[in-house]
Amino acid sequence: MALLINKSCVNCDMCEPECPNEAIVMGSEYYEIIPNKCTECIGYYDEPQCQKVCPISKCVVHDPNYVESEQQLWDKFAKLMDD
Ligand code: SF4
Ligand code: SF4
Repeated sequence: MALLINKSCVNCDMCEPECPNEAIVMGSEYYEIIPNKCTECIGYYDEPQCQKVCPISKCVVHDPNYVESEQQLWDKFAKLMDD
């Protein structure tokens, strides 16, 4: 499942450089996660780095529009490696 940054984001810039997939970009008002680039950090880390560094509680959440199994996330990781 891709992660989602919600409107409680304060644009602190902490998460963007931590993403191994360059999936975090500045949106029109606050940072956004590009779903097809987010692997929940699978392939790189044991836990989502954006969630780990974000100082705001419940700001980075699971995106219900992008439900994916662990296998699907590994497949996405492999595909990103090929691109
Ligand atoms: S969970 Fe990992 S891959 Fe997904 S946006 Fe956050 S840092 Fe990037
Ligand atoms: S770490 Fe959290 S508050 Fe800071 S820019 Fe990222 S999502 Fe927004």
